Amino acid sequence: MASGSYRNGGPKPTSKLDRLPPSTAYSTPKPSAKPRPSAAPVPRRGGSVAPAAASAGKAGGDAGVPGRVRVAVRLRPRNAEETIADADFADCVELQPELKRLKLRKNNWESETYEFDELLTEFASQKRVYEVVAKPVVESVLEGYNGTVMAYGQTGTGKTYTLGRLGEEDTAARGIMIRAMEDILADTSPETDSVSVSYLQLYMESIQDLLVPANDNIAIIEDPKTGDVSLPGATSVEIRDQKSFMELLRLGEAHRFAANTKLNTESSRSHAILTVHVKRSLKGKHDADHGFPSENGTSSTLVKSFRPPIVRKSKLVVVDLAGSERIDKSGSEGHTLEEAKSINLSLSALGKCINALAENSPHVPVRDSKLTRLLRDSFGGSARTSLVVTIGPSPRHRGETASTIMFGQRAMKVENMVKLKEEFDYKSLCRRLDIELDKLMAENERQRKGFEDEIERIRTEADSRVAEVEKGYNYTLENERLKYQQDNMDSIKKLEEKWMANVNRARAPTTSSSADIVEVRQLLQNEKLLRQSTEEVVVNLKREISHWKRLEAAGSSEIVKLRKMLDSEANQKHKLEEEIAILRSQLLQLSFQADETSRSLDRGESGKALTGFDSLVPQARHPQLRDSANGPKASIAKLFEQVGLQKILSLLESEDHDVRVHAVKVVANLAAEEANQDKIVEAGGLTSLLMLLRNSEDETIRRVAAGAIANLAMNETNQELIMAQGGIVLLSMTAADAEDPQTLRMVAGAIANLCGNEKLQTKLSVEGGIKALLGMVRCGHPDVLAQVARGIANFAKCESRASTQGNKVGVSLLIEDGALPWIVKNGNHDASPIRRHIELALCHLAQHEVNAKDMISEGGLWELVRISRDCSREDIRMLAHRTLISSATLQTELRRLHIEF
Ligand code: ADP
Ligand code: MG
Repeated sequence: MASGSYRNGGPKPTSKLDRLPPSTAYSTPKPSAKPRPSAAPVPRRGGSVAPAAASAGKAGGDAGVPGRVRVAVRLRPRNAEETIADADFADCVELQPELKRLKLRKNNWESETYEFDELLTEFASQKRVYEVVAKPVVESVLEGYNGTVMAYGQTGTGKTYTLGRLGEEDTAARGIMIRAMEDILADTSPETDSVSVSYLQLYMESIQDLLVPANDNIAIIEDPKTGDVSLPGATSVEIRDQKSFMELLRLGEAHRFAANTKLNTESSRSHAILTVHVKRSLKGKHDADHGFPSENGTSSTLVKSFRPPIVRKSKLVVVDLAGSERIDKSGSEGHTLEEAKSINLSLSALGKCINALAENSPHVPVRDSKLTRLLRDSFGGSARTSLVVTIGPSPRHRGETASTIMFGQRAMKVENMVKLKEEFDYKSLCRRLDIELDKLMAENERQRKGFEDEIERIRTEADSRVAEVEKGYNYTLENERLKYQQDNMDSIKKLEEKWMANVNRARAPTTSSSADIVEVRQLLQNEKLLRQSTEEVVVNLKREISHWKRLEAAGSSEIVKLRKMLDSEANQKHKLEEEIAILRSQLLQLSFQADETSRSLDRGESGKALTGFDSLVPQARHPQLRDSANGPKASIAKLFEQVGLQKILSLLESEDHDVRVHAVKVVANLAAEEANQDKIVEAGGLTSLLMLLRNSEDETIRRVAAGAIANLAMNETNQELIMAQGGIVLLSMTAADAEDPQTLRMVAGAIANLCGNEKLQTKLSVEGGIKALLGMVRCGHPDVLAQVARGIANFAKCESRASTQGNKVGVSLLIEDGALPWIVKNGNHDASPIRRHIELALCHLAQHEVNAKDMISEGGLWELVRISRDCSREDIRMLAHRTLISSATLQTELRRLHIEF
């Protein structure tokens, strides 16, 4: 008996119904809306796994909004047979839609009353049924939520009529499926959205494809991340218009009829499941609340332009259930008992799940049947669900009608956490990046070709101009030369003639010698003038030559200019390649982080277990993952392969700050893998990282670089290299400047590793390594203190070993560097990693007589006595004890103080 009923229509309060959540369930929450404090999200029940809301892969970060399953009851009108057979009897139910109440008559005097979300009388039109039952669900599917509309009831009460009627003869008769698709198509657009449909039948725990009947044993796949179920084997048909959807439903109906004939059953024994997948891309819904902030809070322009778009992938599931009547009653058409059980398995499992959910039971048997596995999101999951319970009026079926009503009552108590199905579309980002990359490369190629062509053209032009000038000059020169040669010869000839004539005249009596002299003078004068004018012509020609030479020089300076332009173009190309490399590695990092997050979600981890240099080494965050999964290793290998170590290292010196930050993180990631360490050092990575400590102004870069150096400092060869390159001085400088405890932890970790190398002890102390360690305790952070203590313990151990072997004499360098007061003060530190290291350090120091005096004066003796008595670790306790016994000086002091040992 339902506690929500009252007898004889008496006004008894419906206590359980009063406690149902407020009827906000049909109002679609806005994607960003947070649940109100008063309506705190109800925790998931049973086996339904709620994925963590704020994950890197999910765009929608809300944890969901409570939304109760809504239940409407629809009464079928009397049919012809009932009109005759039940003519003398009243209907077994009476509906009071305005009060949202239903009275179930027990007999002429008694009735029980139940409340529902909606009551649909025998006069309710198909349109009204759609609007009341399905429309709100369809609207929220369009906004990105999953939705379910399901019909439950005895065979013949109108489930298929309500959901599946095509209304070909009369559009007013169209059922929920057709009307829902009409609304979906009207609200979506083929450019940005896609709508696809699958149609299945579930019979005797086997799933058949109603679109391709040969597919008759389709498997259900569950996504361990999200708990979402999918049926990859089912045919999915993209729908663009109502006509093709109608044809598809018709085809499904025909196949359902054929399949049921073959199986010797009727459709009333099987469940039909129509799923409409709606995928919508959100344009322009970027950043603001879904940003990828970079380290210093600002997004780099590079990253910003390649933010992944957001998609919403929701689905509407319409379920026409098998008849709810008990199989033995309806005769079961010759099935054996086993078959009969199997036929009803899914339906009774659904009843059990709904009971468990309604009663808030800790276990919901979702896995008991295929139907409940398929509908896990619809009941107690993240979908908005609406149930229509169909009943007939006949008093002959009162029992079945009553049990149908009770099912509806229980379903009303099921609470879902409605959640937006929104995610980043990494695939489309990848496509976009590829296209962008191709474009950049093509443009670069085009420009380079253009410049080369231009240089070639100018070179040819200059060559031909120079050749032309040379030709003209040679020609003129030759002409002039010939002309003057000729003139010269003429004048010489004339002079010879003159001279001969004079000689002859001299031999003869001289009568007119003075006249001859005048003539010779005149000739000489002429000769002079002629020479002058020749010289002028030569000067002019020379001038012309130097003019042409100048022209030639100008031509080659143009070539030089073009060369420079080509160089700067090559530079730009180099930069583009750098950007491409960064994009590639960022993309890898993104998908790597997405993988990482999903993996941690798979294990339900909160990501708190930090080890090593976690804040910058994602794969070190889950050591078990580093060992088992191939994912991160594969990503690193891919990074190596695609970008190349040399390239990554060269980016450490990039001019762009964001690029440098990103590159040093990538190097640190690589350095965390032992297999990469040698390659990094060989390629000069260690030197580059040390340079960053020396030169970088940015603490993030220095922190990440120090972390990478700490990882490299784990092997002996690298330790020596670090020391040889002045690493200890650089680490000490970094330690002195740093404020952030994480930076100090990295630096202390690196120095602690160096302290474990026996050969480096003296150098480490001389170059201020111990002092730097001690300086870092100012920060007080336990992680930093643990690294300092580890370094001191490493140092003390090596030193003790060297002393024993006779390689070291004199007081401990630790004591000389003033470490003892801190060691004594923290010998009993609350944090066990710090305490253990210090206890060991004290034991090592006390093992050598040279240190005994300081141990006594600084109070180290007392600490040793305490350790030998109270230390919880037996090995350390024994070590302290042995140390005390074997030191003569300490023994004398203990006796002086009357302490028995
Ligand atoms: P079910 O799918 O629950 O077995 P059907 O949808 O096949 O039931 O309905 C059985 C019969 O009742 C069909 O002939 C159908 O046309 C008729 N019917 C059902 N509901 C109504 C209704 N609300 N109005 C008129 N006829 C109805
Ligand atoms: Mg039916």
